[in-house]
Amino acid sequence: MRSEFQEHSESLFLSSSYIFESAESIARQAANSEKGFYYSRFSNPTVSMFQERLASLEGAQACIATASGMSAILTLLLSTLKTGDHVIASQSLFGSTIQMLSAFLPRVGVETTFVPLTDVSAWQQAIQGNTKLLFLETPSNPLMEIGDIQAIANVAHEKGVLLVVDNTFCSPAIQNPIRLGADVVIHSATKLIDGQGRVLGGAILGRDKFIKETIFPFVRLTGPTLSAFNAWVLLKGLETLQIRLNRQSESALELARWLETIPEVDRVFYPGLPSHPQHLLAGEQQRSGGSVVSFQVRGHTPEAQRNTAWSIMDRARLFSRTANLGDVKSTILHPASTIHSRITPNERALAGITEGLVRLSIGLEDPIDLKSDLLRGLNG
Ligand SMILES: *Cc1c(COP(=O)(O)O)cnc(C)c1O
Repeated sequence: MRSEFQEHSESLFLSSSYIFESAESIARQAANSEKGFYYSRFSNPTVSMFQERLASLEGAQACIATASGMSAILTLLLSTLKTGDHVIASQSLFGSTIQMLSAFLPRVGVETTFVPLTDVSAWQQAIQGNTKLLFLETPSNPLMEIGDIQAIANVAHEKGVLLVVDNTFCSPAIQNPIRLGADVVIHSATKLIDGQGRVLGGAILGRDKFIKETIFPFVRLTGPTLSAFNAWVLLKGLETLQIRLNRQSESALELARWLETIPEVDRVFYPGLPSHPQHLLAGEQQRSGGSVVSFQVRGHTPEAQRNTAWSIMDRARLFSRTANLGDVKSTILHPASTIHSRITPNERALAGITEGLVRLSIGLEDPIDLKSDLLRGLNG
């Protein structure tokens, strides 16, 4: 979408509203607000450019961008569910998504059954008469389990309900859930799509009719809108997404293979490794393993494991100790004491989150430097 000046880089339209030639033309626009530009709570040229480009990368008919990944999820849930409805969700979801489903939705009378991501029959068995929506993320965070999108889409479609896939961990550069049968895709654009840790953003993608008739009226009314500035930053992110992720996946695979040779490392979780239990399935639905690698260090007691994990984190100079991921700067995190610290030790054990688990998100640094950064703590 170019202005009369034929700019090469997309313009940033910082305007909250748009002017009209006549009373009649503004009346026409007000009556048909899903087309054209009227007010930036629900229509802005820069946001539209981001939505169109992301939709075309995902192979989706339509997209609505939101202020964050969580606002995309909230918008999706509140616009599709009502009191008395039931949701089936993977046990291995982003922590805030789990809380939204388990703590917030019951307040509006929606119940959720959590099932193991990889057990298709558990999804099938959890179906009830009032089930409206199935929700998963693949690969899961931080253990990188793979959900079979096609098989779970079949479970959803036999029952005539929606399969929603949060594609944040892969981005459209390496996985397109809609092509595998998902009805709706969610993104936290904050992660790989920005890729440089600058802004928050989110998106909901799906069929034209669904986006226009179910999502758009809710967004127009409630305003979980992406800002034009953030949309502009994210548009720039999309231009380099594929090339960043190609390189990040290559480096992540190299680090994963190397970690498997380190005596202090008990286990490495990365879908690109032949030792990954769902390596073949990952190869069918993803074009590469992605940027996240987790590993578990040895130790006779949970305390000993935690000491080693923390020592790797504390001695790192190149890896940033931060919760963000998908960034061109590598990051390191101890899931048991951060993103999974609010659940009980028993729940953590069931989820496979041990004290020795370390999550890495691999950026664009030289893998040689990343290895020596990890060795500082592994040898200490
Ligand atoms: C970060 C994240 C979210 C939430 O996105 P925000 O942009 O932080 O609101 C949702 N899902 C996944 C998988 C994430 O990693």
